[in-house]
Amino acid sequence: MNLTRRNFLKIAGAATVSGKIFSHETAYATTGRYATIIDLTRCDGCKEEPISRCVKACRNYNKDRFPKPIKDIKPYWPHKFYEDWSKKRDAISTLTPYNWIFIQRIQIKRKKEIFIPRRCMHCDNPPCVSLCPFGALSKEQYGNTVISDKLCFGGAKCRDVCPWHIPQRQAGVGLYLKIMPKYAGGGVMYKCDLCKDRIAEGKVPMCVIACEERLNDNKAMFFGERQAIYKMAEERARNEGLYIYGDKQNSGTSTLYLSAIPFGFIEAQLKSKKEKFQMAEQIQNPLDEPHNLAKYFLISAFASAFAGIVGALCTGKKKANGDEDKKA
Ligand code: SF4
Ligand code: SF4
Ligand code: SF4
Repeated sequence: MNLTRRNFLKIAGAATVSGKIFSHETAYATTGRYATIIDLTRCDGCKEEPISRCVKACRNYNKDRFPKPIKDIKPYWPHKFYEDWSKKRDAISTLTPYNWIFIQRIQIKRKKEIFIPRRCMHCDNPPCVSLCPFGALSKEQYGNTVISDKLCFGGAKCRDVCPWHIPQRQAGVGLYLKIMPKYAGGGVMYKCDLCKDRIAEGKVPMCVIACEERLNDNKAMFFGERQAIYKMAEERARNEGLYIYGDKQNSGTSTLYLSAIPFGFIEAQLKSKKEKFQMAEQIQNPLDEPHNLAKYFLISAFASAFAGIVGALCTGKKKANGDEDKKA
């Protein structure tokens, strides 16, 4: 190999980057923030397999955390319906409380398709976290956003405010059943948490591992330190003429897509198909808009008041139970 100065710099750059991009064998010290690249030039949707590997791996890994609703679910006031995915647990062509990643398909030429693995983007400034009236969502130290199934009331504000409508609701589970089964909430919201328990142990998310085990060096998903992931995406975009999605949308995220097709084209295709999960190129963070900020403050105030009511109700219930126990 002719080691020109240009080649040397390329290799040196890759070495710096590869030190911080993890493979399935990597055990890393859990410091800092992490991010993912989803490379649409490499993902083929595992189309020859009955279920895409990343989807299968996510479902297997998280199955014990999927909702187990009560049998007799009732609509909650003022709605006349509820969202119950428990009879469609096998659905893999959309996001559900039982499926936290799915593969979206679009046709670009008569015979060419693009496969887009969709899951939570893990936004830098997540509006879902800021607007949850119950404080059930949090931005973790590793850059991932997480929903607590112990605190979520299923009001779906996070889905309303999420630019990609990612979290999905299951009725008949969660706190609302214990406190206000008829008048508030409606279940629990579920979504990808970037395999939070694995990250905490210095391990790579399951979907990334599954893709790597199938495609090896041609894998379509990369996980690593945020800075290295951003750097890798920018270098590949520059060197290979690719487009990046997720670095600027919604004021930045921890999930970057790489594509040889402009994202404006992908957006137009998804729009024309009236897909539930869109991929708009221009996405402002809703919290940057003054009227939403005002709403946020109102919701925060409501959340504090509501937390007080829930606290009082719980204390009351505990006291009543204690009194009953004493009588018995
Ligand atoms: S990301 Fe990897 S595992 Fe998932 S569908 Fe694409 S090629 Fe298959
Ligand atoms: S993609 Fe949606 S659910 Fe995920 S962090 Fe961003 S706003 Fe929240
Ligand atoms: S990061 Fe983990 S939870 Fe999220 S889609 Fe991948 S496997 Fe599922």
